[in-house]
Amino acid sequence: MGSHSDSWRRAKLRPALRSLKPYVAGKGFGEISRKYGIRPEDIIKLGSNENPYGPSPAVKQALAGISPERYPEPEELLAGLESYTGFPEDMIIIGAGMDGVMDTITRILPWQSGECTFIPTPTFSYYEILTVMAGARPIFSARGEQSEIASEVPKNAKMAFLCSPNNPTGNVIGEEELRAVLESTEAIVFLDEAYVEFAEKSLVHLVNSYDNLIVGRTLSKAFGLAGMRLGYAIAPPWIADQFRRAAPPFYGITCASTAAGSAALSDLPFMHNSVERIVSERQRLDKAIKSGSSQANFLYLETKLPSDEFAQRFLARGIIIRDCRSFRGAGEHHVRITVGTPQENDRFLKAFREICESP
Ligand code: PMP
Repeated sequence: MGSHSDSWRRAKLRPALRSLKPYVAGKGFGEISRKYGIRPEDIIKLGSNENPYGPSPAVKQALAGISPERYPEPEELLAGLESYTGFPEDMIIIGAGMDGVMDTITRILPWQSGECTFIPTPTFSYYEILTVMAGARPIFSARGEQSEIASEVPKNAKMAFLCSPNNPTGNVIGEEELRAVLESTEAIVFLDEAYVEFAEKSLVHLVNSYDNLIVGRTLSKAFGLAGMRLGYAIAPPWIADQFRRAAPPFYGITCASTAAGSAALSDLPFMHNSVERIVSERQRLDKAIKSGSSQANFLYLETKLPSDEFAQRFLARGIIIRDCRSFRGAGEHHVRITVGTPQENDRFLKAFREICESP
């Protein structure tokens, strides 16, 4: 195992790493099955904002025909994204999940010491990891009563990470609100629209009007391809062009993700249908549990019990929901519940009644 001291080893790695914790993902089938002795097929997973309907059947067919010995060719995928988004290819950038896209974006900014990013909390925790690994400092700003963001981006912020619908609160940013932010700052504003297909409206059209706006998207959610790791963003051509110089070879995509993504984009009715079912179930669940209104495929719920204990009572019944304590600024009394199929939601609601009614 080597003979060097801890201080020798620490000096070999970036000090910024010490302020980070590994990204906390929602719990998986394997972990809960082992811990509680429940068969994986009896577990329902409402903790990771996945799509229970999966991708279009066209995806399975496309995956059966891939040539894994070849490097991927992204042309068909880019054409699919062009037609889906209505933006020309020179404004579309792709990566291994939206995470991969954000990674390259933060690498192309000329960070200098003392510079910051602006992060309204609670929100997706990868923004903080990206900031720290860029050598910058996150400025966190607590959301208001309605989970709204502050419209003032601090002066020394080089980048602002806004998320709409926001993970985990589910609320959206209005067009006027976003315009006000964009007009008040020189920072690059990254608007994360991972969940936008479940919302009433996208603000992606604003990329045409603002030189400092990038809108991130993913095929992980509405298109049901979380396991394929495929994301993209719409960026002004001057940013997209520089992005391509810094991106990893083949943008981090694979033969499988390219084939799956192209097939999913060729079957929009399937995606629209699953979004409709999820939105209608979201409304049913929201009524039953009285959470704050959400425009995503999940609900954000305040709990009387500490959230870890609340989530743990569901886990013991084979239902995975997300304890939000790992989201900075979410406190100790919030959970996030992904909308599942009607049967899954019924099981969740039955457990919810039992748990909330028991002392
Ligand atoms: N943004 C938000 C707000 C998310 O919740 C997620 C997924 N957890 C991502 C980005 C990452 O998406 P992808 O799977 O495309 O990397």
